[in-house]
Amino acid sequence: MPEKMLKFVDIDQQNPFKRDKIERKADFNEIYNEFINERAKEQSSRCSQCGVPFCQIHCPLSNNIPDWLKLTAEGRLQEAYQLSQSTNNMPEVCGRICPQDRLCEGNCVIEQSGHGTVTIGSIEKYITETAWENGWVKPINVTNEIDKSIGIIGAGPAGLACAEQLRKEGYQVTIYDRYDRPGGLLIYGIPNFKLEKFVVERRTKLLKDSGVNFVLNFEVGKDSTLKELKNKHEAILIATGVYKAREVELPGSNLDNIFPAMEFLTASNKKGLGDKVEMFDNGTLNSEGKNIVIIGGGDTAMDCVRTSVRQKAKSVKCLYRRDKENMPGSAREVSNAEEEGVEFIWLSNPKEFKGSKKIESLIVNKMKLGEPDDSGRRKPIIKENSEFKIEADIVIKALGFDPEELPKLFDEEKLQVTKWGTIKTDFDTMETNIAGIFAAGDIIRGASLVVWAIKDGRDAAESIQKYLELKEKQNQKVA
Ligand SMILES: Cc1cc2nc3c(=O)[nH]c(=O)nc-3n(C[C@H](O)[C@H](O)[C@H](O)COP(=O)(O)OP(=O)(O)OC[C@H]3O[C@@H](n4cnc5c(N)ncnc54)[C@H](O)[C@@H]3O)c2cc1C
Ligand code: SF4
Repeated sequence: MPEKMLKFVDIDQQNPFKRDKIERKADFNEIYNEFINERAKEQSSRCSQCGVPFCQIHCPLSNNIPDWLKLTAEGRLQEAYQLSQSTNNMPEVCGRICPQDRLCEGNCVIEQSGHGTVTIGSIEKYITETAWENGWVKPINVTNEIDKSIGIIGAGPAGLACAEQLRKEGYQVTIYDRYDRPGGLLIYGIPNFKLEKFVVERRTKLLKDSGVNFVLNFEVGKDSTLKELKNKHEAILIATGVYKAREVELPGSNLDNIFPAMEFLTASNKKGLGDKVEMFDNGTLNSEGKNIVIIGGGDTAMDCVRTSVRQKAKSVKCLYRRDKENMPGSAREVSNAEEEGVEFIWLSNPKEFKGSKKIESLIVNKMKLGEPDDSGRRKPIIKENSEFKIEADIVIKALGFDPEELPKLFDEEKLQVTKWGTIKTDFDTMETNIAGIFAAGDIIRGASLVVWAIKDGRDAAESIQKYLELKEKQNQKVA
């Protein structure tokens, strides 16, 4: 591994923003890509206030970016924060992990004119971290309690955003999650070097302090049916994300030390949170000193390769069946991984896993791109007589996620799903085909982004409120 790869600054879990500001020398930890006040002002003042806010149009939350940039440039940070948080429940999270190159920053007119984008994400993070530091972020002070309860299944960004919006209105909100910690993929999927866990824990604590009730280690489908939960609440939101890992069925697939991406990332995140993780501690799920091969070309694959690098792997290789230009993952993530010494083997696909009990090597086919398939992308096809072998101590499969079979799992066969298994909802109201049951986030979109999950959570909250108000009116009429 190049020397550069090993020079990481360890992220102290108890390390809030103050230390973060000082130690930002490490080359590849985006979280240290931090601003001090003068730089935030300088960057914000680069916004030309162009009048056609393409950045805002391409932000899923329609954040009023030009106005909060102007306020930051003028040093009016508290007002900038108030404006930024009015459309986003977790600006400091989005500032860190939105793929800005595809959203706001990629559409900044200054970027388009070749002068480099205003670094919107970093400024958003800076404004919100300043707000936390100065005590401007406060628990919700509910003055008008409403005696109606909503049950939310899933404590990921969609569920959390919906909970916050409903609690602000005075509703009683309970979030159920099968994990032992709230946060969904923010806590156990996305690695700490992209999103520090204290940032997620600080948000969920704020919700607890605002009166949101969390019921953890509670799996709907095992600990209750959907119907039983519906009987406890006036409305339900399903925000369970997508967790069924796509498989690669090849000879040798059942060898030891071939893992799905989430198993690898969850172990690493739990370790970072200070948990005892036997599979990590005994070396099984730890990359240190090993040859690691990751299969896949999306953002999850990038998180796996970069986590392996940080665990001091001997070598990290990423196999992807198309070429670099056709990779689904963010270009920025790929170049970060390349800089860190990850070896990408483009146009390659595993043919066979080899080993006696544990994986020892892979036989890989070289691929070439053929005619476009149904999706419009050029189809990878095997190059004749191109097989080669690579050594591996651990293989990680990062081929994407599909929804679990929720109607079966929830014992609610009536719940309608699409042909992809995502929950079918009304486009405007986000209500499912069962009255009073709504859905949001990845479980309606398929694997997507945090910012879209937040947007869905907010929209679902609005619809749930309308639904409850209408029901109340109808009840009054009957009475
Ligand atoms: C490795 C990885 C890295 C990613 N990196 C990024 C990134 O950098 N930027 C970005 O924008 N997006 C990223 N994403 C995508 C992003 O994390 C998701 O789009 C987002 O978290 C979806 O939010 P959600 O609330 O719909 O679901 P989730 O975050 O998946 O939360 C769903 C919650 O529901 C719970 N749950 C599921 N089933 C049940 C049940 N039966 N009973 C009770 N609880 C249940 C789960 O335990 C979980 O806590 C990444 C995804 C992965 C996998
Ligand atoms: S939420 Fe994401 S897309 Fe919107 S302004 Fe922030 S970083 Fe950009």
